[in-house]
Amino acid sequence: MKKTSTRLADGRELIYYDLRDDLVRDAVDRRPLERTVTTSEVRRDPLLGDSVAIASHRQGRIYHPPADECPLCPSQGERLSEIPDSSYDVAVFENRFPSLAGDSGRCEVVCFTSDHNASFADLTEEQARLVLEAWTDRTSELSHLPSVEQVFCFENRGAEIGVTLGHPHGQIYAYPFTTPRTALMLRSVAAHKEATGGENLFDAVLEQELAGERVVLETEHWAAFVPYSAHWPYEVHLYPKRRVPDLLGLDEDARAEFPKVYLELLRRFDRIFDGPHGEKEGAGEPLTPYISAWHQAPFGALEEFEGVSRDDFALHLELFTIRRTSGKLKFLAGSESGMNVFINDIRPEAAAQRLREVASS
Ligand SMILES: [Zn+2]
Repeated sequence: MKKTSTRLADGRELIYYDLRDDLVRDAVDRRPLERTVTTSEVRRDPLLGDSVAIASHRQGRIYHPPADECPLCPSQGERLSEIPDSSYDVAVFENRFPSLAGDSGRCEVVCFTSDHNASFADLTEEQARLVLEAWTDRTSELSHLPSVEQVFCFENRGAEIGVTLGHPHGQIYAYPFTTPRTALMLRSVAAHKEATGGENLFDAVLEQELAGERVVLETEHWAAFVPYSAHWPYEVHLYPKRRVPDLLGLDEDARAEFPKVYLELLRRFDRIFDGPHGEKEGAGEPLTPYISAWHQAPFGALEEFEGVSRDDFALHLELFTIRRTSGKLKFLAGSESGMNVFINDIRPEAAAQRLREVASS
């Protein structure tokens, strides 16, 4: 892998990750771009104790541009995009319209491939491995910024969940605080450790799930299951079998096996809603919309979680779709949005069975 860091016309950082070591990336961004004035502000809710990023400058961002104006495709001739070069393998750049910026953290865009019409599931194992290396490197780099406490790599896929650009890409949010979901997990880990005299809750959950009926896929170094209390219609949690706090902790064996495992999970997601003979249920139905979210230990101090260190956290990926059945989405309605109580219409055991049925043969 070769990494080349450069700057866009308005000063934002752009990093190429290339499979070939002999590539020279010296194309210059020729656009007359002014630096976007960012006004991100993190406000803490006094009653809930959580934080909201107020980012009003995002109203001006680009929605659903035509394919020939895609800002994530490589630049071609006079068609200038966010990527000045005429090709790339994986490219990462600072978001022009970030939700978090300056003292409030940082937002980056990760372009998985220069092929506009592909999706992550179409990548080769070699390409997927390169994305893993980019996520790992960004986690390391961002963790060193003084304003950053937690790094979140994720992908939203599908217009149904509000993705505004069709080009295959993900994002990285570097937060200036420990996020509420991670804090909840750390509190549970602390309580379990205390109650059991030192047992790790992540290890206990993984062991229990692997012995049960919701396993979706298991390999030498990875395990995927639908959790006992899945919140979403189809939800899979993917863990490396050896607990590590973040992507940096993965050893070579786990890294080498990851692409095969992750690509298989994504391909199964695209088949969940197929008919019994492999045909798509709805004619012209878009691919399964999903959210894929890496959970990593925060880099800040963990004093508020008594007796817990970074190493007690378990890196894992949560992959879920908001689609319940062909053409029907799960909306976060009254109970979920109003009270944080999820109602799941699909039994996790049935979801796991479906995800095994659609395995690649
Ligand atoms: Zn594109």
